[in-house]
Amino acid sequence: MYILGTKEEVNNNLHILRNSNKTIGLVPTMGALHQGHLELVKIAKQYSDIVVVSIFINPTQFNNQEDFEKYPKTLDKDLELLDKSGVDYLFLPDTMEIYPSKPMLSIDFGHLDKILEGSFRPGHFNGVGIVVSKLLNIVKPHQAYFGQKDLQQVAIIKRLVHDLSFDVKINVVPTVREEDGVALSSRNLRLNSESRQAARIISKTLFFAKSELLGGSPWLSIRKKINQMFESEPKAKLEYFELVTSDSFYVLEDIGEEKNVSICTAAYFGDVRLIDNISIFD
Ligand code: AMP
Repeated sequence: MYILGTKEEVNNNLHILRNSNKTIGLVPTMGALHQGHLELVKIAKQYSDIVVVSIFINPTQFNNQEDFEKYPKTLDKDLELLDKSGVDYLFLPDTMEIYPSKPMLSIDFGHLDKILEGSFRPGHFNGVGIVVSKLLNIVKPHQAYFGQKDLQQVAIIKRLVHDLSFDVKINVVPTVREEDGVALSSRNLRLNSESRQAARIISKTLFFAKSELLGGSPWLSIRKKINQMFESEPKAKLEYFELVTSDSFYVLEDIGEEKNVSICTAAYFGDVRLIDNISIFD
């Protein structure tokens, strides 16, 4: 695996491949890699000739300085995992390479960045939009791979690619979970053992709510049960638990005729904030 630190190095290495009609797949990450990231790599290797992974902890998408400073960093292990997974190139830029100056542009995603993650993390999706645009412009991949784990981010990126006519196909990879149901996340590394245990409540409530919905229970009564379940887990603090349309992120009062719906949730375990979601009809 080759490690590229600058835009120039990326250009020099990739343009030859592009000219020889190799397809390039990009997997953007913030490092502290786990099986979820590696699943993206695995799928990328199936659909793209050359796989580029980027590791960049993007300061502009953190609305909380402490979360940014405490974001897990495991670079040596990451390099080993990526090398073993058959990744061709790692793009590992420093902050000055991506942000030689503070961007003046900001992106308004309309409704999409005003709800759920957008409303609880103001500015987050602007930072995501800026950094993903930069990565797409630098790497110029034919395909890019993102996790369903960050469902609202997927909606944001699809919007970005559509509205700005980026010439890239976005592929979404299902969420990888631990055996006990907890979605893999770099932030899980920050949980102590009690909080890690408590974090099971997220997937437990998601699976429960999905089966209740499919069984015909009204959303309002499911929500009441979910609140009770969270109240009985003192280590968890629920931020939101909403039924939404999976692409447009409109909050639903009930499932109605909608077929493309998901439940999205966020909760705190101490100072660690975790998100997860589940699709209802697949
Ligand atoms: P991150 O490093 O957290 O920014 O994540 C990089 C990419 O990996 C994003 O597209 C995430 O949605 C995806 N990802 C993170 N966790 C998982 C998971 N458990 N399963 C599948 N994809 C994931």
